[in-house]
Amino acid sequence: MTVPQLGDLGELDGRRVLLRADFNVPLRDGEIADDLRIRAALPTIQYLQGKGAHVTACSHLGRPKGAPDPQYSLDPVRARLAELAPGVELLENLRFDAGETANDPAFVQRLIEGQDLYVNDAFGASHRAHASIVGPPKFLPSAAGRLLAKEVEVLGRLRERPARPFVAVLGGSKVSDKLGVIEALMSVVDTLVIGGGMCFTFLAAQGKSVGSSLLEPDQIATCRRLLESDKIHLPHDLTALGPGGKIGDPAAGGEVRQAGTNLPDGWMGLDIGPGTAAEFTDVIGEARTVFWNGPMGVFEDPRFAAGTRTIAQAVADCRGFTVVGGGDSAAAVAEFGLAADIDHISTGGGASLELLEQGDLPGLEALRGAPNA
Ligand code: ADP
Ligand code: MG
Repeated sequence: MTVPQLGDLGELDGRRVLLRADFNVPLRDGEIADDLRIRAALPTIQYLQGKGAHVTACSHLGRPKGAPDPQYSLDPVRARLAELAPGVELLENLRFDAGETANDPAFVQRLIEGQDLYVNDAFGASHRAHASIVGPPKFLPSAAGRLLAKEVEVLGRLRERPARPFVAVLGGSKVSDKLGVIEALMSVVDTLVIGGGMCFTFLAAQGKSVGSSLLEPDQIATCRRLLESDKIHLPHDLTALGPGGKIGDPAAGGEVRQAGTNLPDGWMGLDIGPGTAAEFTDVIGEARTVFWNGPMGVFEDPRFAAGTRTIAQAVADCRGFTVVGGGDSAAAVAEFGLAADIDHISTGGGASLELLEQGDLPGLEALRGAPNA
């Protein structure tokens, strides 16, 4: 999984560097709600500027449909960047041009015009074969930025030489979204702990009745096959919401009850139960490597947040090497104030899962094909 590093770029003084960053920040009323992604690019920017390079950054923001759309303008990012890293130029939202997602060669040529070198520090976009990710390394000497290099190092280590026992904790909504990574993890982990919405398809595969819980009937056979391995731990109790209840709306009523894993009709399993949370905590506590992706329940609703909170705490307390795979689990860790106690929180949900699954990403492959690699 090696890719060219910043030190492999050669002389930087007076050179022009195109930096693909991930400035896809959350916006609220046109203001930046959290500038973490901009600050995360600073080590790379400062390295480049410190060596005398002129940096032109580019990023996408949101999902504009291949044409300019003022609500996705990078103007707020440009203003913040000017404060944090004076002297960096920032192009307009890459996805204002349909050539970005289409990986149009003409768009690639426009991006690299006047540039001498290319740096990719946009891990969260590197699983996409988009123009700004895979195009420039065909023409310019290229390297991974600091952030991308760290992600590759950490996630590569999980795949190739994890300290054991290696425990993966998976949750979130769908089995189908994460089947690839489940299969890949099965061959490297010692234990795979499953909670969240995806546990119900596994429970159904064991013949349990799941009531009105999230279920993907077309995945039952696959889950049954996966359960032939004794590495998988499933919940043995649940927190469930009874008929008439509404997720996110306690005022709507509906009884919340601790239950076993056979739910009556009309009941929805929305969190792992306290017994399961305690068992999972023990498993995590003994791990020397932990990878966690996906909340254990509908943690956005405080009635169903306890399982995710307990697991987040267990990961934070674990003395092994701990990694959270971006997305909603990273949001949960931040919300619970535990981010500082995790060794590595990936900046890319989809990208971290794909890298674990495939061992490679289009953006990394492109860097390895660069003229200086
Ligand atoms: P991540 O972003 O961490 O990869 P996902 O996007 O796969 O995770 O899933 C996160 C969503 O899964 C959350 O919005 C959460 O509410 C939902 N979820 C978790 N447990 C359940 C459940 N038991 N039933 C329905 N949805 C669930
Ligand atoms: Mg998600």
